[in-house]
Amino acid sequence: MTTTSYWLHTPQNSVKHQTDVLIVGAGITGLSLAYWLKKISPHTKVSIVDEGNFGRGATGRNAGFNTAGSTHYLAHLLQKHGEAHARTLWTFKQESLRLMREEIFSRLECGFQQWGSYTLYRDQARMEEHASVVARLHEGACPQVSGADLQTRGLSGFAGALTFAHEACLSPKLFLEQLSSLLKSQGVEFFLNEKILWAENQSWIGTRRSFEASQTFLALNGYLPRFDKTLNWVAPKRAQMVALDFYHNKLSGNYYDPDHKVYFRADPLAASSTLLVGGMRLLEEATENDDEDKVSAVIQHALQHYAESLFTQKFQVRARWSGVMGFSSNELPFMRDLAGLKNCRFVGGYSGHGMGMAFGVARVAVLKALGQACAEEHLLQGDQG
Ligand SMILES: Cc1cc2nc3c(=O)[nH]c(=O)nc-3n(C[C@H](O)[C@H](O)[C@H](O)COP(=O)(O)OP(=O)(O)OC[C@H]3O[C@@H](n4cnc5c(N)ncnc54)[C@H](O)[C@@H]3O)c2cc1C
Repeated sequence: MTTTSYWLHTPQNSVKHQTDVLIVGAGITGLSLAYWLKKISPHTKVSIVDEGNFGRGATGRNAGFNTAGSTHYLAHLLQKHGEAHARTLWTFKQESLRLMREEIFSRLECGFQQWGSYTLYRDQARMEEHASVVARLHEGACPQVSGADLQTRGLSGFAGALTFAHEACLSPKLFLEQLSSLLKSQGVEFFLNEKILWAENQSWIGTRRSFEASQTFLALNGYLPRFDKTLNWVAPKRAQMVALDFYHNKLSGNYYDPDHKVYFRADPLAASSTLLVGGMRLLEEATENDDEDKVSAVIQHALQHYAESLFTQKFQVRARWSGVMGFSSNELPFMRDLAGLKNCRFVGGYSGHGMGMAFGVARVAVLKALGQACAEEHLLQGDQG
């Protein structure tokens, strides 16, 4: 258990910082909000505060799939939300990816690689069923890859895969570094290693400073209930990953294996080949619904065992880590005002898909905050549960 003394917890003679828009959280949500604020309203003074350094939260810990989700997930959207809403949501996610390509990846070197995503199927009939879902909801082709083709990639035991050819990967670290540098060059101020403790009379009290702003965005992901336990609008869920030495240099693409709830890809930027594997959180669902940064033997063993069985080789482990996702009650992102605080909103609830979606969500949130019309505004209403 860690404790904080009265002296460190209570700001003494704290410096006051005045800004137009305060963003709490320097992950992809916080940086994307700042990006759109500066693009739409360049003279707005924007300040970003984070308890840690860049990448402390999920944005520095994920698999780097720049994705709208697997074909399995698309079938889930259809089942859960019906055809019309599923199509709208899917189109919104595609638009977010397009905006990232146009606004970010075309100008910043973020390790972006448009190498497609593959949802793997062991059952041919299931793959055909999902192919027909894709045909109904997705604009553009989703080619099928045969089991024999997958075998040439070293992936055996599959009937085939469905592919979204335009999907991509990125380097979370480069993304954070590059986007924050761009924002600094546009005058955005960063206050790192500064935890916001509470809000009081429209002031945000941090460990060393207090902040006053006309508008505030809380971009806290699954850490929101830790900041204020009455704000239990998102449920923290831990996700674990492992990075393995990998002697296979042909694997390109993002892979989902829904039967095992695993995702994996190689890191094309690593000096020596590396395989990144994540998922399997449902093996310990009860204890994984938590925001503590830790790995468990059960899940780590399962991830490593999965990779070793699939590629029939033993791997050396390079890194094991965890991160926190913020799940909303309907698993869709939302923006919500905080009661009792003027112009203060939470933005998040990506439920595990923020690296593709947060950029598009931030655009809508900023347009709304600036009082500008936006056709997709209704998509961020959440279920207000
Ligand atoms: C292991 C893992 C793998 C994933 N893989 C993918 C993937 O491949 N593709 C994908 O689309 N999504 C993936 N996700 C989800 C994705 O990473 C998240 O949806 C996204 O990063 C959320 O971004 P965010 O900016 O909202 O939150 P975060 O990046 O978590 O940022 C929140 C920030 O708030 C700060 N903070 C918290 N409390 C305070 C406070 N009191 N004061 C100041 N600062 C505070 C934290 O330090 C943190 O930096 C994955 C998540 C995990 C954990």
